[in-house]
Amino acid sequence: MRCPNCGHENPEGTLFCEECDWRIDQAVRMKLGVNSVYLAYISLALGAVAAIASFAGFGIAGVPLGAVGMFLGGYCLTAVRMSGIKGRVKTTLMVMVAVAIILSILGFIYGLTVL
Ligand SMILES: [Zn+2]
Repeated sequence: MRCPNCGHENPEGTLFCEECDWRIDQAVRMKLGVNSVYLAYISLALGAVAAIASFAGFGIAGVPLGAVGMFLGGYCLTAVRMSGIKGRVKTTLMVMVAVAIILSILGFIYGLTVL
């Protein structure tokens, strides 16, 4: 199987990548995959709340929520990449996270102007 960290092709059933020692067993990847779905939903919710709060004039809430949304969104992208998710699920997650990050940035920046 291909290492999700460095791309090295390992023999089937390998627990650790021969090239970079990355743990690549299926259980870990499954867990990362599930986590990345939760993270995508949470960052999307945070981004939406941050944007709404800031545009409603509550920069005091929008700025920190936007910051957390951006951080979680970035972390989620890493989790998706490491989990080895492919195809339509990956595309859906990527779109969700992209929207989440954009909303978070909007909420963060606009929130600063209404603090
Ligand atoms: Zn590797």
